[in-house]
Amino acid sequence: MRILIVEDNTDITANLCAFLQPLGYTLELAHSGNAGLEQARAGSHDAIVLDLGLPGMNGLEVCRRLRSQHHMATPILMLTARDTLQDKVLGFEGGADDYVVKPFSMVELDMRLRALVRRAVGARPPAVLRFDDATLDLSCWAATRAGVPLRLTPTGYKLLAVLMREAPRLVPRRVLEREVWGDHPPDSDALRTHIHALRLALDKPFGKPLLQTLPGIGYQLGGTGV
Ligand code: CA
Repeated sequence: MRILIVEDNTDITANLCAFLQPLGYTLELAHSGNAGLEQARAGSHDAIVLDLGLPGMNGLEVCRRLRSQHHMATPILMLTARDTLQDKVLGFEGGADDYVVKPFSMVELDMRLRALVRRAVGARPPAVLRFDDATLDLSCWAATRAGVPLRLTPTGYKLLAVLMREAPRLVPRRVLEREVWGDHPPDSDALRTHIHALRLALDKPFGKPLLQTLPGIGYQLGGTGV
């Protein structure tokens, strides 16, 4: 497990390293709020251990910025010196997932970190999307229908991923365009062309069509279409 530890007290960081590294943790250290924020944004960590009292930007502010400005979902365990209700409430409101009060037991910290990472992994969306007899594996962008591999263009994969994630709900044209091309979609016929190609690969060789068009509104998998 890769853990970022943001803590300015060198005795505590030394203890954390001495205890956690032999358990198989890979630790990255930051000694101020600003450094912690930068390192959290730059690296991919399984969890962040964040001290509340830090020089410069405090831990609460680091936590808030990671959540609200940078939209990072990495689990955060706060270290706090005071066991007051207000600290806990502020911590959780700022986006922390758990906390321990100093002085804390290393065994407890290890257990809480493992639980946090386990929960975060469980909360991740599945890598393989399924609808009816179609599958799309997001880890390798491979799609099948009735067990037969589908030959899709990169845009076809993206469209199918959005449609499968939302299925059987309708996906408005504008939402599809934004998901595939961002804020600068090509001309209005591009989506129709790509949907046509997707339909040829996904539906034509198979008995039952999955992709439905609601003219002028959007597209959906399943449903009744028009
Ligand atoms: Ca501190």
